[in-house]
Amino acid sequence: MIYSAMKLSISRATPFFSTKPFRSKLRHALTPLDSHSCASRTLKPFRFTFLRKYPRGVGQHSSIPKMEQASLLVTFAPRKVQRFLTVRRARHRLRAREAASGGEMSDQGEGRGVWGRRDLLRILGTGAAAAALPRVAVSAAAKTNEGTSSGQAAQDGEAKRADIVIVGAGFSGLTAARALAKAGKRIVVLEARNRVGGRVKAGTIAGRTVDVGGMWAAASQTRILDLIKEFGFQLVPQFEKGKNITEANHRRFEGSGNAFGWGKATDQEAARVIGKVDTLSKEVPLDAPWKAAKAREWDTISAEDWFAKNTTNPEVLGTLRGLTRGILTADAYQISFLYFLFYMRSGDSFLSQAGFGQGTTQAWTVRETMHGVAAKIGEELKDAIVFESPVRAISQNESGVTVDADTGKWEADFAIVCLPPPLALRIQYTPILTPEREILLQHMPMGSVIKYWVAYEKPFWRARGYSGLITSDELPSNLICADSSLSDSGPGFLVGFMEARGGVLWSGAGKDARRTEVVRQLVRFFGADAAQVIDYEDQDWPSDPWSRGCYMASPAPGILSSAGEAIRVPHGRVHWAGTETSDRWAGYIDGAIRSGDRAAAEVLAKYGKV
Ligand SMILES: Cc1cc2nc3c(=O)[nH]c(=O)nc-3n(C[C@H](O)[C@H](O)[C@H](O)COP(=O)(O)OP(=O)(O)OC[C@H]3O[C@@H](n4cnc5c(N)ncnc54)[C@H](O)[C@@H]3O)c2cc1C
Repeated sequence: MIYSAMKLSISRATPFFSTKPFRSKLRHALTPLDSHSCASRTLKPFRFTFLRKYPRGVGQHSSIPKMEQASLLVTFAPRKVQRFLTVRRARHRLRAREAASGGEMSDQGEGRGVWGRRDLLRILGTGAAAAALPRVAVSAAAKTNEGTSSGQAAQDGEAKRADIVIVGAGFSGLTAARALAKAGKRIVVLEARNRVGGRVKAGTIAGRTVDVGGMWAAASQTRILDLIKEFGFQLVPQFEKGKNITEANHRRFEGSGNAFGWGKATDQEAARVIGKVDTLSKEVPLDAPWKAAKAREWDTISAEDWFAKNTTNPEVLGTLRGLTRGILTADAYQISFLYFLFYMRSGDSFLSQAGFGQGTTQAWTVRETMHGVAAKIGEELKDAIVFESPVRAISQNESGVTVDADTGKWEADFAIVCLPPPLALRIQYTPILTPEREILLQHMPMGSVIKYWVAYEKPFWRARGYSGLITSDELPSNLICADSSLSDSGPGFLVGFMEARGGVLWSGAGKDARRTEVVRQLVRFFGADAAQVIDYEDQDWPSDPWSRGCYMASPAPGILSSAGEAIRVPHGRVHWAGTETSDRWAGYIDGAIRSGDRAAAEVLAKYGKV
């Protein structure tokens, strides 16, 4: 007989777990797990860990420290044990509250000082029985996460009911919600912010609404192109006429198209190295990069290590580092080379992601903004989205999930978490995540980026034969600017980024200080005209509590080959979406949409089985 045990956190453990009556009740409650059940599959690795460490089972080890026993007992319990423990826990909480209020109970209680099953159900918010009961006030201090109270949920008392709870209203969450709603499921989207779009956001500069988050689209990004078409929005080709400026190794060059303008030998060397990356990337299976023949070898070096081994040309080296910052918002020494290869293949190629204009990743923008696309889906789902509703905890058992948000508790068959990995990790899961997923998420930090817009009376650089594209290997900006003006006659708009270490250095510095720095850089390249700014706007993504960095999270060296496999594996009834979980266009809007499609399909498939 396999005994599983455990749930709840150590902090809630109370001495009753180690008492004799408790142990005997627990032994009665323990049942063998159905080996085909969802819970059984999810809990398998934990059972083995537990059995290896404590082969005689819970409650028979006097040598296990009390606190550890308590934590073991509460991490994974079959239903009867969970129920028993939860009821015990609730009774303890109620007694404590009763004691604190001098024996006074809620005026909706069944009887003063007497706690019955109905009270317990109400406190636990369990399903229809609980929903049918009157509400009960619960202390707002009951649960906290990072100092923010989630007691609101408890105050609301009754759990609401949906088929599927979707956490996050970025493109991945909106897509999953849309697909499930179309399939006839009752959905709710819980969004922490007061708007949809997540890493896609609208801002205003010189009277124009622009994207201060995700913005460009490419020809093979078919899912976002489908949506743009469906909503009747207009694609604006990226301006690419004229000379580009590249700064590398403290030298400045001018070229057009894909040429850097460094001279034949250096241009050829850059093409050779970028081409080699693209050739190697074809050896990385998109759905399982950890299965590449050289996965371990590539994963235990950084992109920087590989660059340094493959070219000694200082201009090429500087440009590779600058491009890495621009594409991944992380420094080349922070990124696993295996992940770098995966990312380049996932987004067509290194050459495509490094380029601007037709045939590259930065081919078009959307006149009505990319945020406008998200807003359209938001309008469609209007009533199903609950804003300002950060999710703090998700628990599950054989029959469903309970999602605890600041605005209330939701019960559902499934949850889909559509968050960037570092934010998904801030949610408290019961049972806890598998070690593989936990480790993977812990080693996937967000990149850092500040996106800025600068407006002028006219795009003066065009008249001088420049495309407006400036890239550099110097901090803080590697993609200093690209032209996003809508006409030659004005106004002129340049859009640029402070990325990776540059983003870290300038995050939190304040908009005025960043404006001064950005204009200083533009004047370095375009002269005094660049100081005649009519408006400036920027978005500091690392300071945003619901992104904590951007564009996306990337695994550090060594992680993808050891824990990468966990990236899409559902945690029982909790499924995962978000651009980082996509095999195609990971890190991009299109990847986010594809991940939402996949997660919705996974859940619908389970309805077929459940
Ligand atoms: C400056 C910048 C430029 C970019 N440029 C491009 C580009 O040109 N082209 C491109 O394709 N991509 C670009 N990207 C990337 C693109 O924007 C993202 O890949 C995509 O938007 C991610 O969508 P998502 O749904 O995976 O995640 P998100 O958009 O991050 O959605 C997650 C949502 O969850 C919410 N949330 C977080 N925590 C909680 C919680 N606990 N409870 C409830 N809700 C929560 C967040 O508020 C957010 O709305 C850019 C990103 C940035 C920041």
